[in-house]
Amino acid sequence: MRLQNTDVRDCLIDPNNILDDNPDNRDACLTIDPDGGILEANESASQLFGLGSLDHSPNILDYFHPGAVFHARKNLARVAQGEPLTFTLVLKEPNGTFRPYEVICHPVLKNATYCSTLLIFHPTSLQVLGEELNDARLRADLILCAPDVASWERHLQTNEFTSHNLDTLLGRVPPHSIHSYEDFCKTIHEQDILRYMETCQQAMDTHTVGSVDYRVCLDSGQIKWFCDRFRVLKDADGHAVKLIGITRDMTLLQDNLSNEAQYCPLTGLPNRNLFRQRLEQAIKRSSRTGLPGAALFIDLDKFKEINDSLGHETGDHILVAVANRLSGCLRETDTVARLGGDEFTIMVEDLRQIDQAELVAQKILDAFTTPFVCDGKEFFLTVSIGVSLFPIDTEDVDDLLKKADLAMYQAKDEGRNNYQFFTPEINKRSVERITIKRQLRAALDHDELRLQYQPQVDIYTGEVVGVEALVRWCHPEEGIISPARFIPIAQETGLIVPIGEWVLEMACKQCKAWIDMGLPPIKMAVNLSPRQLKDTRFLDSIRKIIGRSGLDPHYLEFEITEGLLIENIQFGRQILGELKAMGIHLALDDFGTGYSSLSYLKDLPLDILKMDGSFVRNLTTETHNSVIARTIIALAHSLNLNVIAEGVETLEQLEHLRDHECIYVQGFIYSQPVDASIMTERLRQGPFNIIGLT
Ligand code: C2E
Ligand code: MG
Ligand code: MG
Repeated sequence: MRLQNTDVRDCLIDPNNILDDNPDNRDACLTIDPDGGILEANESASQLFGLGSLDHSPNILDYFHPGAVFHARKNLARVAQGEPLTFTLVLKEPNGTFRPYEVICHPVLKNATYCSTLLIFHPTSLQVLGEELNDARLRADLILCAPDVASWERHLQTNEFTSHNLDTLLGRVPPHSIHSYEDFCKTIHEQDILRYMETCQQAMDTHTVGSVDYRVCLDSGQIKWFCDRFRVLKDADGHAVKLIGITRDMTLLQDNLSNEAQYCPLTGLPNRNLFRQRLEQAIKRSSRTGLPGAALFIDLDKFKEINDSLGHETGDHILVAVANRLSGCLRETDTVARLGGDEFTIMVEDLRQIDQAELVAQKILDAFTTPFVCDGKEFFLTVSIGVSLFPIDTEDVDDLLKKADLAMYQAKDEGRNNYQFFTPEINKRSVERITIKRQLRAALDHDELRLQYQPQVDIYTGEVVGVEALVRWCHPEEGIISPARFIPIAQETGLIVPIGEWVLEMACKQCKAWIDMGLPPIKMAVNLSPRQLKDTRFLDSIRKIIGRSGLDPHYLEFEITEGLLIENIQFGRQILGELKAMGIHLALDDFGTGYSSLSYLKDLPLDILKMDGSFVRNLTTETHNSVIARTIIALAHSLNLNVIAEGVETLEQLEHLRDHECIYVQGFIYSQPVDASIMTERLRQGPFNIIGLT
């Protein structure tokens, strides 16, 4: 017995009645758990899904066409709420072909509570219509329920041609209606017509069924794909009398199939493909209307950390919440899309004034001032937004997106949680960035890096107490490139790890060489980037490097900036503790420019504060700076830390610092950073003598 909708309801009490492998029961039936895991299947379902050869219980969603999963998941969730329903979707059969099925879903209840879902798969009626129904009247009735299908009949002797729904399907209106087979053939695309007629002929010759896909040029100029299935009807003597068939508009089905290529399955938002398409149309429209539009590139700040610490499932929840929040900021006509990961884009059209784009960006930032709630916990998220305008910045979709992306990076650079509009300067900077990124990889291999050393001096005695190792890139064409330009890029790409290892190795060897030369022992200060400290192999690798060089780690000093320590104070404390335990000294670099939070200063095993050069610069002219400098020095001393002032250039600055009891200084007043050979000479000469220091 074939299962019908009503049967399902009758048998509901016991799904086993349906799953029973009754040979009459040709429909594939199975039960699934709320997550889609297959619990039981009848013989047809086992065959349809190839379950027999599997040694695990698969998930039904794996068999759905990727474009249908989102839709199916939503429907299955409704069923799990107790609502029986029927929907059509495309299944991927084990041989890889896609085929549309009608899926009848019913909740299975136990003691009045939902326990699983019963699914019955029924191939959609295309075949049924085409092959099993000889009655033209019935076919016509059925076709009334299927707006994408038409039926027709062609008498082979008289060539009389009747059809139902064909005119609608082909967008024909009287007097252009289809009255004959010839009329019909005229609508077929010239490249397909021969194939079409051959297939018909073959069906007639062999008295069998036929099926053919072909294109039709509608009067509107649009081209659509259709699929015809037909069969030959014979009279009592076995002569072919009629060709009956159905014509189906494949557009809907194809839309369904290409769903995957259009929407993000997690958030249901348009994906990159669809967004590009819409943007392309919007750009064309704007050139007609003269009204500009904008593309906004939105990236969640530090989303990776949330994802890593709270888990991917929570991460997914947040992305969905973000998608909803973004959608809430827009008008109906605007498009928000998810490009992937934590990147979203928005397209706004018909901007009467450019600052309307600014309003949208601000509205989005505002929308993120309310916390997100996940698992009962509240937390805040911010976004960085880049904006590019069409047709002003460009009329090319990819270029527009690239420019919005670059502007977004600028927003990140400006401290995140803000928006930036694309400008030509941003473009220039990014081109440079990309070039450096590419060439930096080669720089290490080609030995283009070099270390220079700058002395750190005791003001009172003029003695060199240490040197800071500063890396330089000797670019074959551009000459010397400053670390301020390439270190941030090396951080971004991760190249800082091998570069940092090279720096440490060279610095250790040089320090050891000076000691071996019998020069008075000095400290070697080496800069570390946060990215290096985060590398899991960091401690291991520095132990090896120091060990190889033979340098006593007491001579080493690591300069670290605040960023990393603030980000994760626990991690900071732990790793600094390990370094300290090895005997390495620790300095906090650029102090005063970052957060300069007092609470962690006393918590961390630091030895030295390096006062940033920016305070030294106007020390004597701006009382404000002078006060800060004095405060930093007093603070360091109260915490039992040494202070070294960076960027000291003038005698006045030096005197000022000395008066505030800053003992150590580094700066051009003593020496620029110099090559190892010059530094060696300098060390041989003994203490500095600053003429004029009173
Ligand atoms: P930093 O660690 O604060 O280094 C001090 C910077 O100030 C150096 O710039 C130095 O040349 C400069 N400087 C020293 N005395 C004076 C002065 O009297 N006046 C002025 N105006 N500037 C002075 P440099 O060498 O361009 O390095 C810039 C930054 O690049 C460094 O700042 C450091 O953060 C980073 N860097 C340099 N080498 C390395 C390295 O090997 N590894 C890492 N991770 N970063 C490095
Ligand atoms: Mg430094
Ligand atoms: Mg510094």
